[in-house]
Amino acid sequence: MKTVGLLGGMSWESTVAYYRAINEGVKSSLGGLHSAKIVMYSVDFDPIEKLQHQGNWKATARILSEAAKNIQSAGADFLVICTNTMHKVAHKIEDEIDIPLLHIADTTAEVIVESGIKKVGLLGTAFTMEQEFYKGRLIEKYGLDVIIPCEDDRKLVHKVIYEELCLGKIKPESKSEYLRIVDLLSGQGAEAVILGCTEIGMLMNQEDTKVELLDTTEIHAKKAVEYAI
Ligand code: GLU
Repeated sequence: MKTVGLLGGMSWESTVAYYRAINEGVKSSLGGLHSAKIVMYSVDFDPIEKLQHQGNWKATARILSEAAKNIQSAGADFLVICTNTMHKVAHKIEDEIDIPLLHIADTTAEVIVESGIKKVGLLGTAFTMEQEFYKGRLIEKYGLDVIIPCEDDRKLVHKVIYEELCLGKIKPESKSEYLRIVDLLSGQGAEAVILGCTEIGMLMNQEDTKVELLDTTEIHAKKAVEYAI
């Protein structure tokens, strides 16, 4: 079994879900007392969040590259970055390490392509919904038709992520708003909606809606298990 390298803490709330899902995946695949071999580096999210909103991605890349190098030195065989947003600097991190990176957008897109879905909705931070590194990658590399909420709804989705979910706050009114937005995207022709932020699974899951949800935390963790075994 390969050792998984988890670059977490963004936020730690979702890193918990990765840790659990990867261990559960290994346990159900190998049985007995098997559990995942994991090296984890969990960063302090507060300065990273400030740098994101200042647009200082170079500084975030430096912090995460250092963490990734530590993960590699500690013996990880591959790297999993437990956030969609910070894949904005994934290429910079990859340049600094020799172990492979399991890119969250590629992992998610592969599931979408395999299931024959052509048009998807995307929920995540404003960075993920609006910028090339994520939405553009799904469109250009995988030929998907990607739709996002209107500006006001994007602001709402972003605010709930940073002011509630990353702090472990789960509010029923935010869940209703997210479900309203999922329905709107479905009404616009999305065959499924990507939960493109690793904390959204704390707020809603497939039992809450008939619209197909693609939870990037679940998908990414499952891929990490497959890769490790
Ligand atoms: N975990 C979130 C994501 O998947 C947002 C927090 C962050 O900015 O990393 O994008």
